[in-house]
Amino acid sequence: MSEIKKIGVFTSGGDAPGMNACIRAVVRTAIFKNIEVVGIRQGYQGMLECNFWDMTARDVGNIIHIGGTILKTARCLEFKTAEGTKKAYENLKAHGIDALVAIGGDGTANGADRLSRTFDIPVMCIPGTIDNDLNGSDFTLGFDTATNTVIEAIDKIRDTAASHDRLFFIEVMGRDSGCIALHAGIAGGAEAVLLPERETAIDELIEKLSSQAKNKKTSSIVIVAEGDKNGGAYHVAARVKEKFDFYDSKVTILGHLQRGGSPSSFDRILASRLGFAAVKALLNGRTRQMVGLRGNAIVLTPLEEALNISHFKLEDDLLEMINVLSI
Ligand code: ADP
Repeated sequence: MSEIKKIGVFTSGGDAPGMNACIRAVVRTAIFKNIEVVGIRQGYQGMLECNFWDMTARDVGNIIHIGGTILKTARCLEFKTAEGTKKAYENLKAHGIDALVAIGGDGTANGADRLSRTFDIPVMCIPGTIDNDLNGSDFTLGFDTATNTVIEAIDKIRDTAASHDRLFFIEVMGRDSGCIALHAGIAGGAEAVLLPERETAIDELIEKLSSQAKNKKTSSIVIVAEGDKNGGAYHVAARVKEKFDFYDSKVTILGHLQRGGSPSSFDRILASRLGFAAVKALLNGRTRQMVGLRGNAIVLTPLEEALNISHFKLEDDLLEMINVLSI
């Protein structure tokens, strides 16, 4: 059995709905197993500033349904330096923290990997990002909630688009990943989706919209992923308008509202499973793993493998369907 007596848990990088449910699962699983838990506020910044919180099971009550993260999150450049990583480790040791659960995106996991390799402290990483861009899990925490938020917005925009016979360009988040765009495009019934993973020429988009208009469509919705190479929804809309003015067109950038909100049941259950599994894996002597979901099973993937492939692969059938179901 392991020597772990005190686990540190933190959230870092971009916040995502479900992080609180995950913190709750980590804290309660550890306490159930007679392990102490320290919440580290503001991610790596908090490690450098000893922003530590000795947590009880009651500290994570009434947070399962709340978006954001009670531990706060931050981006910290100092931690990336050799001195910063050393200082973080020394502060953890001074507080008796002998293992870590990191909840965040690829940057967070890279940081945990580096800390663990350099100072031999066990770490488990939980994929917490709405972008769904990590190789270690079919779904990352927050992706489902964010996609549902986008769909809710599309549904509302559809009402006005249909009433005015308009063409709407809706820009969604995801950084270099088109996952939110593609899933929301399918679930929201979009006419076209522009993705970073698959370039769409503006002429090709115009061709598609024209043929749909000839097919008696009176309004259209185009989803533009923020990482799409055409330069964002405003730019795409302006370029389409130059050659195609069948519809009055409008642009909506959904922005940060996609990051907030109460987590969906899927994200709450995923968060609970991942947090529970992360603590159990640490106590079983595992380290430097991404805890993720594959099919409907919780699996551990070595961090070097989880982080090596930058792009989560989009589903081929969804990509094909976008064109078929929007005729
Ligand atoms: P995310 O975890 O959402 O991808 P970031 O990329 O901003 O968010 O990473 C969060 C934090 O993780 C950074 O502010 C930094 O402190 C740390 N970090 C990121 N990349 C590295 C790295 N290569 N080495 C060490 N620390 C890193």
